[in-house]
Amino acid sequence: EAPVDAAFVRRWLAAATDAVERDAAHLTELDSPIGDADHGTNMRRGFLAARTAVEQEQPQTPGAVLVLVGRTLISTVGGASGPLYGTLMRRAGKELGEEQAVPADRLRDALRAGVDGVAQLGGAAPGDKTMLDALVPALEALSGALDGGEDLARALAAAAAAAREGAQATTPLRARKGRASYLGERSIGHQDPGATSSALLVAAFADTARE
Ligand code: ADP
Ligand code: MG
Ligand code: MG
Repeated sequence: EAPVDAAFVRRWLAAATDAVERDAAHLTELDSPIGDADHGTNMRRGFLAARTAVEQEQPQTPGAVLVLVGRTLISTVGGASGPLYGTLMRRAGKELGEEQAVPADRLRDALRAGVDGVAQLGGAAPGDKTMLDALVPALEALSGALDGGEDLARALAAAAAAAREGAQATTPLRARKGRASYLGERSIGHQDPGATSSALLVAAFADTARE
């Protein structure tokens, strides 16, 4: 069984873009006390551009869709989140190679390569109050569920729950990377916007697999 094809990634992109549009104001609101109040705007611009690029270029493999999404995020999002999410998607896409469809464990390995890319590029680790505080627990939950024999839909549901909890758990943390780190102690008590958008992106994966 190889459930992850180009259509699957396109459905994820559509769900993710809808979620980002729906929650853009909230993401920007989270970015105002500990940032520059543009995270929702950045994400919305990037995902709308990515959806348009995929409609125009019609990439035919799951890897090619992810690479195009990543490239578009890098070129259209000015903020820190653009290169970081762009790297995640591009690395994951490259890892999937040229295959028409891949099984769940290949998607997991590709996402792991993408998340490793985010950590390398940004120099952050879990606990630093960044998107990695949602992405790393999501990956661990996905991996654990697949190793435990769960199917992709259930494993992604577990990943979405872990990402949401990870994002909520950033509130008491002090930021050590990105703009929020300039605030030092004053970054404590606010949920990280990037961890929150990561939870949205993972939830969109879970929704896509459940359809
Ligand atoms: P900017 O801070 O440039 O305005 P955004 O507001 O779009 O960019 O994104 C901010 C989010 O990016 C933060 O909430 C955080 O999750 C994430 N982020 C910032 N720096 C890093 C980093 N070095 N590593 C991982 N994530 C980071
Ligand atoms: Mg910002
Ligand atoms: Mg900014």
